[in-house]
Amino acid sequence: MARPEYESWVREILRCPVGLHPLVDVEDEQGAPALQCAEDCGGKGQRRRYPVVDGIPVLLADDATVVTV
Ligand SMILES: [Zn+2]
Repeated sequence: MARPEYESWVREILRCPVGLHPLVDVEDEQGAPALQCAEDCGGKGQRRRYPVVDGIPVLLADDATVVTV
């Protein structure tokens, strides 16, 4: 699926609900679009990655994957 395009003001207000970090566009292991914390979240080198389902970012802590960068 193509990367969803957001209005810039929408993109700017999207934040990690856990640490209120800005989010960056990434892809998960399957190449699907996702949003990931731009800063450490919960531990050194740990970021939360939120899925984008049908073009809608799912910014729920329970649905996030913690990844180590
Ligand atoms: Zn975060």
